[in-house]
Amino acid sequence: MIKITFPDGSVREYNEGVTGLQIAESISSRLAQDVLACGVNGETIDLSRPINEDANFVLYKWEDEQGKHAFWHTSAHLLAEALQELYPGIQFGIGPAIENGFYYDVDPGEAIIKEADLPAIEAKMAELAAKKEALVRQSIAKEDALKKFGERGETYKCELISELEDGHITTYTQGAFTDLCRGPHLTSTAPIKAIKLLSVAGAYWRGQEDRKQMTRIYGITFPKKKMLDEYLVMLEEAKKRDHRKIGKEMDLFMFTDMVGKGLPMWLPKGTALRIRLQDFLRRIQARYDYQEVMCPPIGNKNLYITSGHYAKYGKDSFQPIHTPKKGKSIS
Ligand SMILES: [Zn+2]
Repeated sequence: MIKITFPDGSVREYNEGVTGLQIAESISSRLAQDVLACGVNGETIDLSRPINEDANFVLYKWEDEQGKHAFWHTSAHLLAEALQELYPGIQFGIGPAIENGFYYDVDPGEAIIKEADLPAIEAKMAELAAKKEALVRQSIAKEDALKKFGERGETYKCELISELEDGHITTYTQGAFTDLCRGPHLTSTAPIKAIKLLSVAGAYWRGQEDRKQMTRIYGITFPKKKMLDEYLVMLEEAKKRDHRKIGKEMDLFMFTDMVGKGLPMWLPKGTALRIRLQDFLRRIQARYDYQEVMCPPIGNKNLYITSGHYAKYGKDSFQPIHTPKKGKSIS
């Protein structure tokens, strides 16, 4: 027997090898329906994975970030499964869950995937989800993984596998689709009831501009149709309140390519607003005894190397300014 400790401190005993789903079922069948993933000693895992040791245990539902993450990550796999059926020979990059939904980076070869194609892909996803296919996790040796994905011509996956440590490689399969993946995932695609693919964008493989430009498909899914409807209304409302739209309408700021993209110039009304905000902040900070200091807007390159900014953004925004040597005139 193993001891399972719940977040409220209560402890129950279960047979070794019990799964998260079985634990949920032992509490209530309703809970077993709502639960999406579980936490075992701090690690989020599939509900179908056996637990073999005493553990601090937590169940994650839709309301939990970990639950949503498993839901959306599984949805990314469902998108890939649909694409594999609709675009034979398509190659897959990465397909993570993100803050709101998920995306998958794909290389459709000769084919072009446009926004107009998204409804057909959504329909295929819904058709596949209705099959309630189980997600099956498998540990696989590095050599076998390279062979398996290599046979399918999956060069992007092979590149990822070649960088992984042998002994820690897992795949997840649902229906005819197998992905290189660490998980965690839902036990099946059944809970994915409402699907919306939102947009198509270009994205360089691994974010490197000298690599292949992939097609990135963004989407979001929900366990209930009503939740999707509400989300789409919220997106429309957010569009109305977009700061770029409001800024223009209220004459708060303007942009010109002569200055640079994304660099706002504050107009009189916007500047007045900004000063009021700054005054407000100053008053609050003074109340809490903060003192103001001022720093130069630029600094030595080493500062940005130390902070880590240079490694991340150096190419785009932290190029050193080279001043002419003494004695030479500035042209
Ligand atoms: Zn995955």
